[in-house]
Amino acid sequence: MTDCIFCKIVNGDIPSSTIYEDDVVKAFLDLSQTTPGHTLVIPKKHVADIFAYDDELASAVFARIPKIARAIKASNPHIIGMNIVNNNGEIAEQTVFHSHFHLIPRYDNNDDFSIHFGDHSDQYNANELNQMAANIKKHLEE
Ligand code: AMP
Ligand code: ZN
Repeated sequence: MTDCIFCKIVNGDIPSSTIYEDDVVKAFLDLSQTTPGHTLVIPKKHVADIFAYDDELASAVFARIPKIARAIKASNPHIIGMNIVNNNGEIAEQTVFHSHFHLIPRYDNNDDFSIHFGDHSDQYNANELNQMAANIKKHLEE
């Protein structure tokens, strides 16, 4: 897509600090550097979000993430964990609509990444969870 900033990075029209690329993905440092080493992994093919992947592209992209994650971790002995984040849709804080995975190295409890999972487990019984699961499951069978 001509007006997509990440397609421009793939094409070399916009510079990036690239750490890995092959025929399927490009991995480059996120300008925001939420923590040092914060990297984006993107498919070279323009897909807007997770909902747009076919199985083949998903397999190829996901298959490449662990080795990139290992290289980032190996680059700094202070990295003791990593959050991998993929935002989909404005409500989920997606701002660039070319799918990408954030690899955010973690250093300690005071580094600049936080994630909050609400816990509403007290609001659902097993029957309600099973109904919810069945409702989602039927869409996998479509
Ligand atoms: P998201 O909010 O999940 O869509 O993330 C988009 C990310 O792209 C942000 O973390 C930005 O810092 C990053 N970003 C935007 N433009 C560039 C660029 N030219 N080079 C590297 N990272 C970028
Ligand atoms: Zn694009």
